[in-house]
Amino acid sequence: LAQLYLARIGQSDLNAFLHVDQELTLQQARAADLRLAQNDSTPLTGVPIAHKDIFVTRGWRATAGSKMLENYTSPFDASVVEHFNNAGMVTLGKLNCDEFAMGSSNENSHFGPVKNPWDKTAIPGGSSGGSAAAVAARLTPAATATDTGGSIRQPASLCGVTGIKPTYGSVSRFGMIAFASSLDQAGPIAQTAEDCALLLNAMTGFDPRDSTSLERKKEDFSAGLEQDLKGLRIGIPREYFSSGLSADVEQAVRAALQEYEKLGATLVDISLPKTELSIPVYYVIAPAEASSNLSRFDGVRYGHRAADYKDLADMYKKSRAEGFGEEVKRRILVGAYVLSHGYYDAYYLQAQKIRRLIAQDFQNALTGPDRKCDVIMGPVSPTVAWDLGAKADDPVANYLADIYTLSTSLAGLPGMSIPCGFGQGEKNARRPVGLQIIGNYYEEARLLNVAHQYQ
Ligand code: GLN
Repeated sequence: LAQLYLARIGQSDLNAFLHVDQELTLQQARAADLRLAQNDSTPLTGVPIAHKDIFVTRGWRATAGSKMLENYTSPFDASVVEHFNNAGMVTLGKLNCDEFAMGSSNENSHFGPVKNPWDKTAIPGGSSGGSAAAVAARLTPAATATDTGGSIRQPASLCGVTGIKPTYGSVSRFGMIAFASSLDQAGPIAQTAEDCALLLNAMTGFDPRDSTSLERKKEDFSAGLEQDLKGLRIGIPREYFSSGLSADVEQAVRAALQEYEKLGATLVDISLPKTELSIPVYYVIAPAEASSNLSRFDGVRYGHRAADYKDLADMYKKSRAEGFGEEVKRRILVGAYVLSHGYYDAYYLQAQKIRRLIAQDFQNALTGPDRKCDVIMGPVSPTVAWDLGAKADDPVANYLADIYTLSTSLAGLPGMSIPCGFGQGEKNARRPVGLQIIGNYYEEARLLNVAHQYQ
């Protein structure tokens, strides 16, 4: 199996993989064969997987899509990688992504953009564009990804594959190169909800090495997949079907909702009134945390070091100027600004307050005596994948495309994307559409069940 996928990866021109190492892969594959022969296996033993290059991996490079970490190899494995290794999975390689996971199109990678396998003139989405494209092109059956404001759900949607961002804190962030720590969460991208359930079974769990890791009983995410959906109440947020949504995406999403009605669910009109504020709030909080997290890349402790410099301050300046790309620098500047004395209250603190109200919107719909629904559904992205280059010089246009994914992240809720058809974009091309399913905290098993019944 590993050899088959390695051969496909070798023939691919999508730029999804940043690092492959046949020998490392085959070594793990042989160990998996041995475990299978000795009946010492898990459901994932011998199954290939590839990791977003934001996870550190012993023996493999971990670049986070940045020149800053171009030659970085970690002496230890990320918790997520360790879990999959222990389960006997076989690593095929490391996957391209936006630099430090900042982006919605994968065009912010220092190593060049990934192409969408459905249409190679289109972006794959981001920041986990390599993960989604590799799964969609059958270069790997499974991939790890991370979602800070949509980076699992949006590329999964634009590449026509299944991805789930679990409740914040359910997967350890240890060994995941940090972007915005109060939002970062790892999850799987695979073909189906059934596969995602198996991967989540291995991925989740308490980790004392991550200070925000949740201490919860181990759960079997596969157990409830077959439950029927009779009586399920699906909340349809008005704000997710507003003027910004393109007609082709709306059509595919509405068709999927009709399928859910046939499966016994009822659709309920709900309102998440603060949705619009999620863009300014996220683009204050995430850069603020990023500016702090990325201060470690100073050319001394980690990362690229400039060749010539006068003194220490000059070395910091030159190393960071050379090592970081445009978007990363933009975020560091915004972050440092909103955290600075005199602006902190007006921007950062204000954003934190509205973050709370955004989370409350979801609680009003999903809990309490006036509880309106069991899960929430809507589009993932307002349009299908856009053309490579179309928004590359327009950061705000990229930010606006995150409108349906940011609020879930700000609230820390689980959310997933499943393929639900195709749209046409502007060029009459055939490009995938994803349906988003959002649930209350710890409801990922429910989401997977709801997704599986449709699939
Ligand atoms: N597109 C968002 C950003 O650029 C989300 C990225 C992510 O989830 N990592 O910040």
